[in-house]
Amino acid sequence: MKLLVVGAGLTGAVIAREMAEAGHSALVIDERDHIAGNCHTEPDPDTGVMVHVYGPHIFHTDDDIVWKYINRFGEMMPYKNRVKATVGGSVYSLPINLHTINQLYGKAMSPDEARSFITSEADTSIDDPQTFEEQALKFVGPKIYKAFFHGYTKKQWGVEPSELPASILKRLPLRFNYEDNYFNHKHQGMPKHGYTKIVQNILDHKNIEIRLNLRSEDFAGDFDHTVYSGALDRWFDHKFGRLSYRTLRFEKFHYDGDYQGTAVMNYCDEAVPYTRISEHKHFAPWNSEEFEKTTCFKEFSAACGPDDIPFYPVRLVHDKALLQKYIETAKQESRVTFAGRLGTYSYLDMDVSIKRALETAGAIKAMWKTGGDTLAFVHDPL
Ligand code: UDP
Repeated sequence: MKLLVVGAGLTGAVIAREMAEAGHSALVIDERDHIAGNCHTEPDPDTGVMVHVYGPHIFHTDDDIVWKYINRFGEMMPYKNRVKATVGGSVYSLPINLHTINQLYGKAMSPDEARSFITSEADTSIDDPQTFEEQALKFVGPKIYKAFFHGYTKKQWGVEPSELPASILKRLPLRFNYEDNYFNHKHQGMPKHGYTKIVQNILDHKNIEIRLNLRSEDFAGDFDHTVYSGALDRWFDHKFGRLSYRTLRFEKFHYDGDYQGTAVMNYCDEAVPYTRISEHKHFAPWNSEEFEKTTCFKEFSAACGPDDIPFYPVRLVHDKALLQKYIETAKQESRVTFAGRLGTYSYLDMDVSIKRALETAGAIKAMWKTGGDTLAFVHDPL
């Protein structure tokens, strides 16, 4: 069978590979001039530092199959994400842990003392938190919420945290010990030669052809099926309106030496216009000492306009209503499957993208076996 894959990011690459290995052919097209989508990495020509062009990507997963999969296509180096936060001129440890609590309150509490202290601070009248704000007040109380979450979240999402779903905050842990590894997952690492090299290796198969700088709108061909990992509303010419996204803008700068001594420094105060500064040589601790000059990026979040690159799906109530219309329309389409972060309008970490891509390829193969041609979604976007 002949498959067209729109988008050469992780989702498109993994699906193309699975189909190619099953003996099918895949043409992968991408409108950008590079593969790997938003996890694209390339060396900064000024410093030689490998930069995450579309912002920090740290690979972490609990899924052994996904971990094995990524290691098959590139060497993963040990990496632990340890994020710091600057708030009101002081530096704190993240995610919220015993150190953060003791720093913020100027105390030396033990784990048990901190646990009962935070329980006394938290709003226990909230039974079933629906919003980000309710979740934060129930989880950590008002002081930690205001210091670390309110300003950052307003900058990141462009709305009050009281309008956002609780699920966004549920990504973050709260710890009553000094563990400052940002993620709880069993596997964590950084590709030795960057993510683009990994995606290139995934796509390196005799049954896969890649064409870059090609918009799907400007391309026609005869295929048995299309996997579309572009934005769902774009497939339909935005006919019901635009699903909202946040876009990111990066302000790059160089410094002689070590700028901030760590990979990621969040700036949680609302008055600071950027959300964080990332210093990319620290994403490769195995060779960070080799660079005399360093490359850093200030990261600004904004509403995504028609000409901007979509990053985070906002998924507010009106987006969900719009999404429902697109889903219903998409389900009428045959010979196309919508997949990935943009195709399913979902906030996906890289490991989930890979897992879902493997499942999507499996579902398409199963559909073909039964002679079917309609499979708009393998994963429900709602
Ligand atoms: N967040 C925050 N302050 C921080 C870090 C995160 O308020 O210092 C909030 C913010 O709303 C963010 C969410 O927690 O979108 C999830 O954080 P995570 O680090 O998972 O964000 P991402 O990986 O999407 O950048």
